[in-house]
Amino acid sequence: MRADLRSDTLTAPTDSMREAMVRAPVGDDVFGEDPTVAELERTVAQMLGHEAALFLPTGSQANQVGLRLHAGQGDEIIADELAHVLRAELGAAALGGITTRSWPAGRGLLEPEQVRRLMVADGGPYQVSTACVAIENTHNFGGGTVQPLERMQQVHEMCVEAGVAVHLDGARLWNAHVATGVPLARFAACADTVSVCLSKGLGAPVGSVLAGDSGAIARARVFRKRLGGGWRQAGLLAAAGLHALEHHIDRLADDHARCGRVARAVAEVAPEVVDPGVVETNILVLDVGARGRDATDFIAAAEREGVVGLPTGPGLARFVWHLDVDEDHTTLAEQVLPRLLA
Ligand SMILES: *Cc1c(COP(=O)(O)O)cnc(C)c1O
Repeated sequence: MRADLRSDTLTAPTDSMREAMVRAPVGDDVFGEDPTVAELERTVAQMLGHEAALFLPTGSQANQVGLRLHAGQGDEIIADELAHVLRAELGAAALGGITTRSWPAGRGLLEPEQVRRLMVADGGPYQVSTACVAIENTHNFGGGTVQPLERMQQVHEMCVEAGVAVHLDGARLWNAHVATGVPLARFAACADTVSVCLSKGLGAPVGSVLAGDSGAIARARVFRKRLGGGWRQAGLLAAAGLHALEHHIDRLADDHARCGRVARAVAEVAPEVVDPGVVETNILVLDVGARGRDATDFIAAAEREGVVGLPTGPGLARFVWHLDVDEDHTTLAEQVLPRLLA
């Protein structure tokens, strides 16, 4: 058996998702004529409580188009130092002439005071002006951390007062919603633009959605085309997304439970490696460095026993639960990972 826990992007479409794709009515989306894309955009906008939405191929493109709506050449966006928009989108903000600064992240947990200290609402001719604060929920490299709603609300209020935009990288906002029971729209109300991924734990093969007000989304459509993201009969892909929204949100609770189970098994033999109390969703980050272990060696040893993860730092090993990881895979991880750390 091989439990592939490298990422929740590894999911393959289910048979019923493939059937939904085959049946989807389609049209040319650059002409605004794909009914399935339109339905997906309406559905996600409604779920997030925003006026409009735009379907894009990737989360990185959704984030970068979102940031471009708020920040122009010479402006800055600020985010925590582990944020996906800063760390894993290959400097795309630079394509728009946007600069970035960051605050220290810990587990990626949002600290409104740090945002307040870093933000320069109007730097005039003296300092770079902060155009946008980017928040990530759940936080990927932080270990699937859920941002508490109150902290997001505090940051949002602070930004409204200062005239600074908020972008929410909600690639895994579904997970935050399922873990807390907080409605998606309440999280999404804390931001001017919100991106969500259909291709992570939800299991669609491709696709992300950016939501915002109608004016913003109309401009986003222009940026997407400029970046080469104007696609045609994308309804085939939107159908997979609609299927995922209908069938694969509630089951994220299984991923969370399985991930937590393995966290507790590891903590029993190596409490310094993980605190199961902070493993809230589908991402398990093990600080194997705290046990004097090198992450790459640890990952290789686990892989030899059929449990595949990813090193995400010199002493950090990451394991992610998703649609294609079942009870047996989880039991294997529950046995192998603690044994390697004992
Ligand atoms: C995966 C991810 C994205 C988008 O990634 P793509 O691979 O470009 O779809 C954005 N933000 C976070 C936090 C992610 O984990």
